[in-house]
Amino acid sequence: MEGTPYKAAQTRYDGGMPYFRCGRSGVKLPAVSLGFWHNFGSVDDFDKAHATARCAFDNGITCFDLANNYGPEYGTAEENLGRMMDLSFRPYRDELFITTKAGYDMWPGPYGDWGSRKYLMSSLDQSLKRMRLEYVDLFYSHRYDPETPLQETMQALVDIVRQGKALYVGISNYPVETLDFCFSYLRAHDVPCLIYQGRYNLMDRRVEESGILDKCLEAGVGFTAFSPLNQGLLSDRYLRGIPADSRMARNHFLKKEVLTMDMVSRLQRLNDIATARSQTLSEMALAWLLKDSAVTSVLVGASSPEQILTDIKAVNNTGFTADELYEIDKLSR
Ligand code: NDP
Repeated sequence: MEGTPYKAAQTRYDGGMPYFRCGRSGVKLPAVSLGFWHNFGSVDDFDKAHATARCAFDNGITCFDLANNYGPEYGTAEENLGRMMDLSFRPYRDELFITTKAGYDMWPGPYGDWGSRKYLMSSLDQSLKRMRLEYVDLFYSHRYDPETPLQETMQALVDIVRQGKALYVGISNYPVETLDFCFSYLRAHDVPCLIYQGRYNLMDRRVEESGILDKCLEAGVGFTAFSPLNQGLLSDRYLRGIPADSRMARNHFLKKEVLTMDMVSRLQRLNDIATARSQTLSEMALAWLLKDSAVTSVLVGASSPEQILTDIKAVNNTGFTADELYEIDKLSR
């Protein structure tokens, strides 16, 4: 695979992938984006990761979501993206929307974590080198830092855009109370917040309940949903046990104890609803997010090209009856 020349599928924009406007901005994102948190690090099979990214792009997924510490090892998902740029995607750079982030622990000492200007600026410089890019399309502050003045973090984002290292900026995992300040500071400095990235899936409704989604909608800020399949739980992966090659088998970020008898029974019943809709459970879980116009894109973390091909089918049926929604609510909350 590494040496196989790549020509992107000519049909990449003909397969029905919708592109939704990101808040009140000029930019559109694919309904389904590809996340590099897992499956793209140095511990993973590069050829498979590369094939997954090629399959995504060939099917209209123009947005790749990264962060400085994705791997493992930290930084290696970005390094692998850099290899993929050289091997496959460089000719298509202007068709890709590539994002990265800084905010969680990255290197030792006081300057490799949280939200200081010192950390964000140096981290993005490192990310650009690893990804072999001159700029990213969007740079995120990955989490709110209660000890750094918000103004310092927001001004760093503004300056990153002024330096030409990112075209847009966003925030992720920020509490609802901070959003008015962030959105108005960035807007007042002519660098409006493009995206809020938050955890959102059938089983985790906190962005709805806290009012984050409504605030984004009101402020004209796009919203991208991470872990839309609850790390793979909302798929047919775990209906009959724990597959050896699954994220849960690694028992790190997705713990085995989540899979109680009650959970399996709920997943089976959700799967029945999906089947009645002629969808897989993962398709239905993504469709459920995409029914909401506040959601600009769902960031899936596929581990194979086959998963990408299933996940993108979600866009074909995002309508739900009131009965379906009621049953889904009962089973997932
Ligand atoms: P998902 O909820 O999409 O989970 C991904 C896992 O779901 C895959 O690894 C795979 O599991 C399984 N899966 C995907 N498609 C299918 C399918 N069709 N059938 C069966 N199983 C499937 O997302 P992630 O938790 O990976 O998060 C997605 C992205 O969101 C990340 O890569 C990252 O970009 C972003 N993110 C951002 C965070 C933030 O703080 N801002 C935090 C976390 C994620 P398996 O590997 O077992 O095959």
